[in-house]
Amino acid sequence: MDRGSLSGSPVTGSTPDCLSLVALGPARSGNTATMNALLVCELHAHSTWSDGFLTLAELVDLHGNADVDVLCITDHAVRLDDPSPNAVDAWTWPAYAAAIRAEAARALSEYGLILIQGLELSDNHEDPDLSAHALAIGLERYVSMDAGFVPALEEANNQSAAVVAAHPYTSSDVNAHRATRRIWRERDALRGLLHRYELFNRREVFTWVAAEGLPPVAAGDVHRAEHLASWKTLLPCDRDPAAVVAHLRSSGRVLLTPFAPEQAANLPIAA
Ligand SMILES: [Zn+2]
Ligand SMILES: [Zn+2]
Repeated sequence: MDRGSLSGSPVTGSTPDCLSLVALGPARSGNTATMNALLVCELHAHSTWSDGFLTLAELVDLHGNADVDVLCITDHAVRLDDPSPNAVDAWTWPAYAAAIRAEAARALSEYGLILIQGLELSDNHEDPDLSAHALAIGLERYVSMDAGFVPALEEANNQSAAVVAAHPYTSSDVNAHRATRRIWRERDALRGLLHRYELFNRREVFTWVAAEGLPPVAAGDVHRAEHLASWKTLLPCDRDPAAVVAHLRSSGRVLLTPFAPEQAANLPIAA
């Protein structure tokens, strides 16, 4: 496959420095035939519909030109009483969805890039122990945060979206930019509502996800063009939005890799 932006072949060396690609999750029998068709996926991206700095069209062009195969648009949804002004709400959702549909058609015809509509269900509180973000990938309808985080996750599950724990910090993480510890704190209670967990968010690593053997993904949490350089998820599934969402919802194997490292700048930690 022609993946000029990948940092190396999917072969591991004997030292961590040489490790260019990590396979995680249970292997499935009969999977080898699909391994030649890995889809490079950005599962976590924000546009100007929330707090991203790129328009939908700019996001599509950035990822299309980099030969990314799948781009999930996950702008924030927040509670009505959240002071954050940058979010998709029930009133702007129809326009947001229409804009993504229009860009999805262009992305496919110009780049062969699959666009998938979603939200980052964002429950922000002063107390990091109460705060949590989760990606809902493949939504058909808006998901309100007003009844709380758990009802929002349940609604995303009811819509058959893939639900992914985003930047799940623990009490040992010193970064307090946007500490979201509830998913880690309530990891047993929330497990049945989450299909995947970010082991990597951009260049941060959430090691407890690996330690507990949870199904991982890597995502760039793209807000700016330079976030193209981040860890990404490779999916061994059909080039089809429904297949991507179904694979993320399953326990099927994913592969994680650094992407476009030559474009990495000094990135601030952000989520
Ligand atoms: Zn985000
Ligand atoms: Zn977030």
